[in-house]
Amino acid sequence: MTIHQHFRVGVVGCGIGGSLFFEHLAAMLEEIDEQPVTEIEILIFNPEHSIGTGIPFGPDLPCATINTSYRRLNSLGKSSTLFTDWLAETNRLASQLNSFPIPRSFYGAYSRSKLRNAVQLIEKSIRVRWVKERVHAMWSIAPDKIQIATESGEQFLVNASILAVGNWSPPKIPGARTCYPLERQIQSISPASGPETLIVGTGLSAVDAAVTLAEQGIACTMASPSGRLPWVQIVEEAESPFPKHLTISAVKELDAEGGLTADAALGLMVRESEEYGVDLNAVLAGQHYDQHWSDPREDRRHNAAYTVLSTANAALNLIFQRLSNEQRQVFELALNGNWRRFRFRIPLSRWKQLKNFILVGLVQLDTLPPVERNPSALASYSSVIDARGQSALIQNSTFLTNVFRENGLKCDYKGRGLWDPSTGLLISSRKNSSPKIYGIGCVTAGSNLITSALDVIDIQANLVARSIFGQLTCTVPKFKKR
Ligand SMILES: Cc1cc2nc3c(=O)[nH]c(=O)nc-3n(C[C@H](O)[C@H](O)[C@H](O)COP(=O)(O)OP(=O)(O)OC[C@H]3O[C@@H](n4cnc5c(N)ncnc54)[C@H](O)[C@@H]3O)c2cc1C
Repeated sequence: MTIHQHFRVGVVGCGIGGSLFFEHLAAMLEEIDEQPVTEIEILIFNPEHSIGTGIPFGPDLPCATINTSYRRLNSLGKSSTLFTDWLAETNRLASQLNSFPIPRSFYGAYSRSKLRNAVQLIEKSIRVRWVKERVHAMWSIAPDKIQIATESGEQFLVNASILAVGNWSPPKIPGARTCYPLERQIQSISPASGPETLIVGTGLSAVDAAVTLAEQGIACTMASPSGRLPWVQIVEEAESPFPKHLTISAVKELDAEGGLTADAALGLMVRESEEYGVDLNAVLAGQHYDQHWSDPREDRRHNAAYTVLSTANAALNLIFQRLSNEQRQVFELALNGNWRRFRFRIPLSRWKQLKNFILVGLVQLDTLPPVERNPSALASYSSVIDARGQSALIQNSTFLTNVFRENGLKCDYKGRGLWDPSTGLLISSRKNSSPKIYGIGCVTAGSNLITSALDVIDIQANLVARSIFGQLTCTVPKFKKR
């Protein structure tokens, strides 16, 4: 067993969130006088293939597309090179999301290159060490003594750790293929197996899989309990409206007056929709898109209300963080049902492509009871692709179940990880001795209405960087003179 004795931070998982964390930390370190701080070390634990990209933004077929606008992508992190400039510099095609969404791997490659630059900057004052494998276990001996064991059995002692391991899947459907990478899926399904190919799910992953197969002339059926597709996303790059009521300051004001309840929060959302003369429930239920399936751009008011609500991630998360546990449940229940579909949308171009495949019969849509309850329903299919999306329940990841148990980390009523928005620490039930384990992404799902979207990841990465920076700079007191 190797025990390292310096002050150390372990970054467990370094995909998009990890990369943004290093970017923010590098920018903060740039602000202080350079001096050797040899006793500090950051260990990065991540398998080589997904460093800086994570799994969703790793290499895959171009069919794995990004559904986030350029404006939002350009606003993330601290890099001096914008994503769109990087696309141009590396001769990658930048296109309109509405007409031709770009592959997710492009953003992954950009993130990886930014990570490299950020680590180079950090290495001027802090030692960074790569441990290119998965972490197998993590347990605290004391609040600032956390033991990390990798899959090869090596152990490291750190004083603080950051859990940024991304998404995980619900338990496997026996005999089914996993959805990603799409490339592997295509190679193993031939056109002959067409009509018997079933995609379990009708969400974003299912759409990626169906389009990938249909483009190769392979017919398939997408099926889920609702049998309904995600909504369509229309990006108004030029003149996107901004929220007037559902804002950070409005939420803070309500809270300061003691009036922040689930009802009051819904009121902000209702008022935001009313600005465009539309009803919130109609927007969330996607009525407009059901009516305008062939041309979802037709109703500009609905599209505007839609866009505004989806630019308010930070305000919605702030509401959630400040509500009591009981009020969080009321808020979630009130948004229930269509909220999930509202959150996950297909770019317009993808929508049109899918619609054409449905019209010519290459893709069929069906209802199917939850397969976990009836696995025999899959028996008649020659190929089954599991595209049920990701889970936020800690119990669905053996690794996280153990980490949460070993460190007394708490979950909400559904079993999702809880997080403190003022420090970025995961919340532990060990009152006076909670371990210094920070969280970014899906592990914080119990304390955020929206997790894992890139803009949310960026805010979290910045917050955690600030917390770590605060500790590191205890030993680096001199700031640059301005
Ligand atoms: C298919 C798919 C498509 C998506 N598309 C979009 C999109 O278009 N726009 C958007 O905003 N969001 C999208 N998302 C959400 C997306 O997950 C986040 O935006 C982002 O990738 C989350 O960053 P992260 O750092 O939390 O996780 P990741 O970027 O996935 O990084 C997690 C890292 O941790 C590593 N890891 C996991 N377990 C361990 C372990 N035990 N030890 C060490 N390392 C470990 C992984 O290998 C990975 O490198 C998508 C998600 C999925 C699944």
